[in-house]
Amino acid sequence: MIIQLRKNISDSQIEAMAAAYEGVVVNYESNVLVVTPSAIKNIDSKFDDIIEKNWVLDSDIQLSSRKFKNETRKISIGRFTSGSAQTLLTIGPCGVEGEEMMEQTAKLIVEHGLSSIRAGAFKPRTSPYSFQGMGEDGLKLLAKMREKYGLSVVTEVRDSTHVQLVLDYADVIQIGAKAMYDHGILRACGRSQKPILIKRGFGTTLQEFVQAAEFVLSGGNPNVILCERGIRTFETKSRFTLDLCGVAYLKENTNLPVILDPSHAMGYAYGVPDLARACMAMGVDGLLIEVHPNPAVAKSDASQQLNHDTFRKLFETLKPIAAAVGRTIV
Ligand code: PEP
Ligand code: MN
Repeated sequence: MIIQLRKNISDSQIEAMAAAYEGVVVNYESNVLVVTPSAIKNIDSKFDDIIEKNWVLDSDIQLSSRKFKNETRKISIGRFTSGSAQTLLTIGPCGVEGEEMMEQTAKLIVEHGLSSIRAGAFKPRTSPYSFQGMGEDGLKLLAKMREKYGLSVVTEVRDSTHVQLVLDYADVIQIGAKAMYDHGILRACGRSQKPILIKRGFGTTLQEFVQAAEFVLSGGNPNVILCERGIRTFETKSRFTLDLCGVAYLKENTNLPVILDPSHAMGYAYGVPDLARACMAMGVDGLLIEVHPNPAVAKSDASQQLNHDTFRKLFETLKPIAAAVGRTIV
């Protein structure tokens, strides 16, 4: 249950209410909320005079539920705002590999009138022997692109040891599919006000996915965006299976903006343009596409990144699809 308390009640009254129901106290807009386990359906009448209103929810999808807030959250990233008629098209290489390729990427972004650059400086790899990212040097290069080209920076945090560092440099903090269960990261992101982009783990149900977002929301950060990037199924011909049905569910039932990532789902560049068009047709808040000036030599995710010319052609075909679903690409 979400309980909104009346204004001007004392801290001890708030604490007593929270303690009675094992609730989490959340400051939301200009109100104080106590969010209890969703199994709580009734509140003792002795608390009546401190309660403004309450929402009874049927699962622990609470702050992110449309039953609580019946519109997509407005989250600003540079000149993009979620829950509007804009779709954020955030592109860049899988990882920051050096200044020259970041310059080329930034120029491609500016050429298309886009507003953000995305690349990882801390890469969560499946092998300890492959490229792990440039670390803080990579963050510095991303910051340089922001300064030089006026772009917002989207970059990922790999583990809780460098959350603060990434928060210092990034405009949007990405929590990757493997990191989304790391409660150190989720809680640290809950203490920030910067937009947090949570990618769905490939074995994560929608309920678990949204509950990861609830950790950030209940920690006090209302700016959470979900990213569907493919789940593992019996199919092995593509790297993962992009769950568009799941996206329909999230749009219908949650107030969180949704970004779709066809690159990691497909795993192979040949399928990404068709999938990107399908994603755009879903009328989502954003798309994440990996591009690289020379994918053949990319240090991570080489098989799925689009070269710049392929991206240019794709972009032209995305524009009419965006228009058909009432959106402009930012
Ligand atoms: C990435 O975005 O480059 C990445 C590592 O993605 P994921 O966490 O979805 O595998
Ligand atoms: Mn990648």
